[in-house]
Amino acid sequence: VSQSDTLASFWMPFTANRQFKAQPRLLATAKGMHYTAVDGRSILDATAGLWCVNAGHCRESIATAIAQQAQVLDYAPTFQMGHPAPFELADRLVQMLPGDLNRVFFANSGSEAVDTALKIALAYHQARGEAARTRLIGRERGYHGVGFGGISVGGISGNRKQFGSLLPGVDHLPHTHDLAQNAFTRGVPTWGAHLADDLERLVKLHDPSTIAAVIVEPVAGSTGVLIPPQGYLQRLRSICDRYGILLIFDEVITGFGRLGTAFAADYFGVIPDLMTVAKGLTNGAVPMGAVFARQGVHDAFMQGPEPSIELCHGYTYSGHPLACAAAMATLDIYATEGLFEQAQSISQYWEDAVHTLQGLPGIIDIRNIGLVAAIELAPWPDQPGKRAYDIFVQCFEAGLLIRVTGDIIALSPPLIIQRGQIDRMIDVLRQVLQSRGD
Ligand code: PMP
Repeated sequence: VSQSDTLASFWMPFTANRQFKAQPRLLATAKGMHYTAVDGRSILDATAGLWCVNAGHCRESIATAIAQQAQVLDYAPTFQMGHPAPFELADRLVQMLPGDLNRVFFANSGSEAVDTALKIALAYHQARGEAARTRLIGRERGYHGVGFGGISVGGISGNRKQFGSLLPGVDHLPHTHDLAQNAFTRGVPTWGAHLADDLERLVKLHDPSTIAAVIVEPVAGSTGVLIPPQGYLQRLRSICDRYGILLIFDEVITGFGRLGTAFAADYFGVIPDLMTVAKGLTNGAVPMGAVFARQGVHDAFMQGPEPSIELCHGYTYSGHPLACAAAMATLDIYATEGLFEQAQSISQYWEDAVHTLQGLPGIIDIRNIGLVAAIELAPWPDQPGKRAYDIFVQCFEAGLLIRVTGDIIALSPPLIIQRGQIDRMIDVLRQVLQSRGD
């Protein structure tokens, strides 16, 4: 039986995650900046897995930490009892956090972290006797995972339309990237801070005392790397302050060095009331998410409906020992190798490299910030998304893994990337784009 026969026999019926229309590209192993496909080809990873493998693949110290932990304490409940690792990890994280964020709630994914953060925001207002504050505001093209809270505040109608029932009382701000004004802008656009005024309009429309929280990705990732205009997040912060609304940053993608700082909050100098993370927290090796909060916000949530009743939110695997071990080892790597600083120092080279693609057929925008970039293509009118998907397939064949989202190519390599690997990525993309007749 050939390898492809074997694959064909197992992928079709047994995956519940995706209905593959064609045989999926299968990855067998990974190391550093590369995957190896099942056919033995080396694939340069321009996406850090799915924006998560910030320290590069299969780091030995992370693997060892997970294996050692699995031998001494595989699991411990976090209801009514605990184990030291989450406390040690939380302590460590708090030292990295900006401003007065000093409490941590552990979840197992970005989606769980987002739903937890929304619940914390609602519980906070309830605990303060502001029961009317139940409205939530997200942003068009925001992605906040696939929980019911996340799809409700998320700004992707396609992720909602099958499900009918969603959280009530949710509004969406317009998204911030205007191609007409910003095409080929490098870094943070200087135009568009006024778009935050839409929050003020919304707040006044609804009565400010009914609004609980605003949630945004500081840089929207999954929907195509939408970089906020200069001053936009500051403006959101000040409007939220004025009306007693909590500001949530979803840093599932931007957290842990993607912008060359620990968090986007550091990059933009704006401190939210709540922050969600996942992905880079464990370098993708074991699932883990977390919510960071100010003590006052977090403690209101922890009180529960009555002091005698145990907190009515938490996951079986909150603060899982293996995830904590992976996270500790990951944070060690970030610190000892100075990976956030490394991302920062290579970001100018990155910016210059991605912008050399300007002028190639089909490209209508290139944007970048930190160690992330997007190349936006003009969609084919009758087949949106097809052009970028074809490019994704061609790149994979040429040994490069990119991410496409609609007609936007997103690049977010591991932070360990070297200049030569950036050159290689851009060369493959250039060749693929030039090879096409469109
Ligand atoms: N929020 C953001 C900003 C994300 O990018 C993602 C995942 N791409 C999520 C939440 C959801 O995370 P997960 O897939 O781990 O549930």
